[in-house]
Amino acid sequence: MNKKIVILGAGLSGLSIAYHLQNGCCVYEQEGEVGGLARTDEIDGFTFDYDGHLLHFKTDYVKKLIKKLLPGLFVPHNRNSWVFSHNVFTKYPFQANTYGLPSGVVKKCILGMFDTVSKKKPPKEVNLAQWMQHHFGEGITKHFMYPYNHKFWTLAPEELISDWTQGFVPHVKLKTVLDGAFSLKTKSLGYNSEFWYPKVGGIDQIAKILAKNINNIKTNYKMTGLELENKKVFFENGESAKFTDLVLTTPLKALQKLIRDTLPKEVKQAFFSLKYVSIFNLNLGVQRENISDKHWIYFPEDKFCFFRVGFPTNFSKNVAPRGTSSLYVEVSYSEFKQVDKRKIVSLIETDLVKSGILNPEDDILMRHINDIKYGYVIYDKQYKHNIKIINDYLLKNNIYSAGRFGRWKYMSMEDVILDGKLISDLVKKK
Ligand SMILES: Cc1cc2nc3c(=O)[nH]c(=O)nc-3n(C[C@H](O)[C@H](O)[C@H](O)COP(=O)(O)OP(=O)(O)OC[C@H]3O[C@@H](n4cnc5c(N)ncnc54)[C@H](O)[C@@H]3O)c2cc1C
Repeated sequence: MNKKIVILGAGLSGLSIAYHLQNGCCVYEQEGEVGGLARTDEIDGFTFDYDGHLLHFKTDYVKKLIKKLLPGLFVPHNRNSWVFSHNVFTKYPFQANTYGLPSGVVKKCILGMFDTVSKKKPPKEVNLAQWMQHHFGEGITKHFMYPYNHKFWTLAPEELISDWTQGFVPHVKLKTVLDGAFSLKTKSLGYNSEFWYPKVGGIDQIAKILAKNINNIKTNYKMTGLELENKKVFFENGESAKFTDLVLTTPLKALQKLIRDTLPKEVKQAFFSLKYVSIFNLNLGVQRENISDKHWIYFPEDKFCFFRVGFPTNFSKNVAPRGTSSLYVEVSYSEFKQVDKRKIVSLIETDLVKSGILNPEDDILMRHINDIKYGYVIYDKQYKHNIKIINDYLLKNNIYSAGRFGRWKYMSMEDVILDGKLISDLVKKK
């Protein structure tokens, strides 16, 4: 029988699957354009991504692919990111750079790290708060790790697990902590110490070039129903499609309401229990050149409503008109911590002035909002249990799930492009 592979979602994972499969598949996307989270809006000379999006390469495969598809477009940058706390800027990552903080804070961070050195391995199942304490000690946990993660995840670290940290939170040795306490000259650490961004235009060019190399993409096709037994998907526009193989890159959480077959009770419960963080992203265009010399800044303290502020004009001068600067500001929220959408823009602007990034007299030329429902998957204590139940169920029904929200996993653009290749290999082999 000829294969008819249906791929749901034309974000980078769905596009990568179709790009690597080439034939026998069709991608359906609910929006009028491809790219998902890796899209870009261009308005009045400002180029705004769907929140800050920078490319990091851990693998040669994706690096070569991007270079082949978009020769010469992406250029590397050495990260220049900072943490603002105690009214002081310290270099990121905090754990390796406490230089400049009040001496009492630095002392506590060093002593805490000394404590960790003498400790044995932690038990296997620890919560995120215990994980921080074990790897970084009391001071670094108190002054950065705990408040930043609490703010970002909207839940107390005691409620979370640490499984997502690998590859995202750099570990440090005692010597690095000591070096970074006494001088600014520490070596760059972590997955994002180098990043790549287009010389011209925004991050959407990756999705667009992948789409150009794919034959069958249908936009404005929102899946509204799925019959697993009949192998059929239904769309909002009244059309439907039969499949032999189905790949879902759409959010797992939303799937519960789409599946028309009777779901086992425990699967229903597992879908229901998945948790996520949403991101309210305010992009600003400001009539002032060189508003900051930094790439982005982390804000662990609660007195600022945002957790991060970035400056796209420091990634590329071509993302804003001459004489202006652009900023992206990120606020996280969830069912556990709401934001008041009527007040959040003015609160962000007040806090930007409070932090010294904006001046009260700054002329804001452009306000652009992305309210991102599915931003980050929450790794709560039931996470692994729920994901196992759902994955077993999907596998039993011959459904592949891929990408950041299909897999329900903390994944970067590079990760989901690789995932697309992996899934395409699996489907081809079947
Ligand atoms: C705030 C934020 C900042 C980030 N910054 C970075 C960064 O700097 N660097 C980095 O590498 N990664 C970053 N990421 C991660 C990166 O965006 C993702 O890993 C990647 O874009 C996910 O691609 P995807 O295809 O898996 O999912 P998505 O991009 O979410 O694509 C899923 C697609 O499915 C479509 N869809 C959903 N429901 C339906 C339906 N019912 N019917 C049809 N279509 C549907 C959606 O419209 C979407 O196009 C960031 C993510 C966020 C949220």
